[in-house]
Amino acid sequence: MYFPFEINWEQSMLMFQPKGGMDTTYEYFVRAIGKQNVLLSSPVTGVENTTRGVTVTYTARNGRSRQIDADFAIVSAPAGLMRRWATNWGPDVDAALGEFAVGAPAGKIGLQYRTRFWEDDHRIFGGITETDMDLAHVWYPSYGYGERKGLVVGYYNTGTNARTYADMAPKQRELRAVEQGVKIHGEKYRTELESSFSVAWHKVPYIEGAWAYPNTQSSRFKQLQQGAGNVYFAGDWMSEISAWQHGAFWAARYAVQALHTRVMTS
Ligand SMILES: Cc1cc2nc3c(=O)[nH]c(=O)nc-3n(C[C@H](O)[C@H](O)[C@H](O)COP(=O)(O)OP(=O)(O)OC[C@H]3O[C@@H](n4cnc5c(N)ncnc54)[C@H](O)[C@@H]3O)c2cc1C
Repeated sequence: MYFPFEINWEQSMLMFQPKGGMDTTYEYFVRAIGKQNVLLSSPVTGVENTTRGVTVTYTARNGRSRQIDADFAIVSAPAGLMRRWATNWGPDVDAALGEFAVGAPAGKIGLQYRTRFWEDDHRIFGGITETDMDLAHVWYPSYGYGERKGLVVGYYNTGTNARTYADMAPKQRELRAVEQGVKIHGEKYRTELESSFSVAWHKVPYIEGAWAYPNTQSSRFKQLQQGAGNVYFAGDWMSEISAWQHGAFWAARYAVQALHTRVMTS
């Protein structure tokens, strides 16, 4: 992709938000694919090439192991987690997946306030305060201006800071984040708080990390782009723009293109 301007990916933080929240993205996909074709809460435990195609093994909602046979599979779970599956794609592919095994820690806390004091008192309407504290970024809502309540992202941190907060109980995370935020916004940051919700991505099952940065020049990355037998890989880590949703779309496109070319020439 060509950008007619220089982007510093570390510092850039775009603030477009889909109406209805992030969940709407996958909900529209489910609607397009057909609800009856989507199995939720059914973790995959194995993906194996067969002479006729591929067999995917998963644990159904009732706890039973089930299998689906297909011509091809496109797998898009985090790369490191796939290495725990029963597979027969061989040690080379496993080693290539291992390059993406470490998911970076990241954390966020949502602080819900009964008033929007940052708007009323400080004239802050959206945007981010970049701190040198363990909070890293404090993020104000860019919607619902002037309404009664509002939600501030009290920290959005990575690395050691993310681990520090992750190792606390949710209430402790809240107390610490508020204690720090009071230094910026004063006592209302504590007294107006209604509730909080926090996530530590490296502790979320089936994700176990915020993102993985591939070395897109490595031969193993290129090897995975070719797929393994009847299995193709996707997910943002399988693109040049890891850690961004459009990287996930991009990787999906790569996989579909490879599959399409193969089917049309076979
Ligand atoms: C804190 C944070 C902030 C971000 N901010 C932005 C942002 O502002 N803008 C942006 O564009 N991107 C952002 N991203 C990145 C964005 O979330 C990812 O790029 C995107 O979600 C990747 O999509 P994906 O489909 O590749 O992977 P994922 O969304 O990670 O999906 C992988 C799926 O695989 C499932 N899975 C795992 N194991 C199994 C199994 N055994 N069986 C079945 N399913 C399994 C998981 O449950 C998960 O649903 C952010 C990410 C984080 C963590």
